[in-house]
Amino acid sequence: MKFNLENLVRENIKAMKPYSSARHEFSETASVFMDANENPFGSALPENFNRYPDPLQWQLKEKLSVIKGVPSHNIFLGNGSDEGIDLLIRIFCEPVHDNILIFPPTYGMYEICAHVNNVQVKEIPLTSSFQLDMEAIEQAVDTHTKIIFICSPNNPTGNSIDRSNIEIILNNFAGLVVIDEAYINYSRQGSFIPELTEYSNLVVMQTLSKAWGLAGLRLGMIFAAQQIIGLMNKIKYPYNINTATQQLVLEALNKNDWVNEHILTTVKEREQLKDKLSSLSFILAVYPSDANFLLAKMNNAKNIYNFLCSKRIIVRDRSNIVLCEDCLRITIGTPEENQKLLDTLSTYSV
Ligand SMILES: *Cc1c(COP(=O)(O)O)cnc(C)c1O
Repeated sequence: MKFNLENLVRENIKAMKPYSSARHEFSETASVFMDANENPFGSALPENFNRYPDPLQWQLKEKLSVIKGVPSHNIFLGNGSDEGIDLLIRIFCEPVHDNILIFPPTYGMYEICAHVNNVQVKEIPLTSSFQLDMEAIEQAVDTHTKIIFICSPNNPTGNSIDRSNIEIILNNFAGLVVIDEAYINYSRQGSFIPELTEYSNLVVMQTLSKAWGLAGLRLGMIFAAQQIIGLMNKIKYPYNINTATQQLVLEALNKNDWVNEHILTTVKEREQLKDKLSSLSFILAVYPSDANFLLAKMNNAKNIYNFLCSKRIIVRDRSNIVLCEDCLRITIGTPEENQKLLDTLSTYSV
């Protein structure tokens, strides 16, 4: 089976005409804007918030293009990665008939977006070493499988997925392969972005919510072939990235040094915390992590979770998730926060 984008796109998406926003043409040279029913007097805030934002965020994409080494027309920006996940499912998956593949334990939004759109979800659990079960995947793929979601580094297990297995899927699957790289900045593995020129069925997702520290601004990035980006632009809400986010992110993108410094600190803290947690008697395993969190298996995770809550430390209880029995997911904090966690855990008695 060969990848063919035309055959993959839903007919209604192909046939529809996109919303044409008022501010497409002439806006560079014009000086009077009486086309969009905006408030000509400005806004109560000292910014240009009275105007609709650039629907395609060209300034932002140009800057990201330089940082990521990807042409602007291969970039889609969404209201978080979640918008990208939802749009891809709606472009490619016919409700009821089509399905996506996910590999639990993994990020919850792939499944939720599929269910919202009444798209079937085929779950192929990871192996006990948190890697892809290649044989089961081959068995599960059928002619209605449109998208395979691979989260690497994976949330909540923290490990990276074997690159060679991802390449096998990219080479053999006739649908879209989405690699969610939300945690790539903390990883020993490289991004799949350079492979975009190699594979027309590859979609790479990243976000400003983690290493860039901008979860509150909501900016997700999708990197893919121009035709795929074009389809996403065609069906998105016209003004999906607001003016405040576009302006603030443009500023933040100059602060590369801040980001790199905190990535280094987080990775160093992660390895130290891993060692120190491992030495506690009630912690049975702390799994290797390429992300900004650790997954730890404990003797009675629920109890420890409740104990930490009572000490006003909140971690993520993953103990009722497949392959994560008795596991808590712990985000790496500041050095002080990590020490506080360790001090608190040292007072826990089994
Ligand atoms: C945190 C996270 C994201 C980021 O989502 P945003 O909507 O961009 O904040 C995406 N994927 C995974 C696996 C995550 O853990």
